[in-house]
Amino acid sequence: MRQRRKLGKKYALASMFSLKHYRDYKMTLPKADRRALDQVTYGDIFTSEANGIIFNSPFGRIVTISQSLRYFLQFSHLALLRFDGVPEYVRFQALLIALRVMFQYESLDFDADPRGIIPPAILRRLLRLIPAQLEFIAGHEFAHHLLGHLSEQRLQLALSEDTKAVLPHYSLSEQEELDADLCAIMRPQVDDDRRTIMLNGVLIWLAALELYQHAVEVIRPSVPWRAKSHPSARDRHSHLVRNIETKHVTAVRSISESAMSAVETFKPVLTEYLGLNIEHFETYGSMYLDAPNTSWRGPEMTDRVDYW
Ligand SMILES: [Zn+2]
Repeated sequence: MRQRRKLGKKYALASMFSLKHYRDYKMTLPKADRRALDQVTYGDIFTSEANGIIFNSPFGRIVTISQSLRYFLQFSHLALLRFDGVPEYVRFQALLIALRVMFQYESLDFDADPRGIIPPAILRRLLRLIPAQLEFIAGHEFAHHLLGHLSEQRLQLALSEDTKAVLPHYSLSEQEELDADLCAIMRPQVDDDRRTIMLNGVLIWLAALELYQHAVEVIRPSVPWRAKSHPSARDRHSHLVRNIETKHVTAVRSISESAMSAVETFKPVLTEYLGLNIEHFETYGSMYLDAPNTSWRGPEMTDRVDYW
């Protein structure tokens, strides 16, 4: 908050959370869908679990997106998009930060400690993709509601690993997840340009998710993520590329290929890193883009002196 105040940003807790991606997305839907979604409450939350979910509460259906997902997106963009002038090791460090956010080992104090210095022109491009990705994530959860995936018989009581709290959640099939992806992109009444911007953002997000799923398989092969509800990120990626047609098909193919090639390049490096440095995925704290006193990190800073 103090950091936000220094930057002249709004610093009330409520202003941390934007409803823009939900509202912008809803505005693009046909009227009947908008009316159907009047039954769904939505909002961002501050939680270490970097995801979007739809769940049932005594007050009705609720869609939430975690604020930490933005950090996962920002750092995975730095890793996956090949910006000129970003050294390989900085891209890999950015990937590790993104993955540690997903594994809930990275501390979420990015406002006070941004993990290094990203040149402003690159930072703007990293952030530019995020609104369309958040709209898609909201749209995917809305789609489960619109497509009738959420009958009361599908409600299950799930024991959450972390809190041991019992939360009601919906059990969905892999096909329903793929349908929700397609619906989230095709249902909006927008032109091909806007649809392609969303699709491109989603393909990059799914590439990052694939690297997370790869890391899970390396670290915890005995607990396959497939036990969870979603099909693999690669399946979701291929399904979208196969089924969505826009006039920008060449641009979409090129984004898809370049994201996949970045994933394939990172996978063996990540496997080797995790084999040698597993403790970095077992300890809570902060990881950085580079060592202190370098251009990607800035001068060495002292906890409780420089961070406050
Ligand atoms: Zn889903």
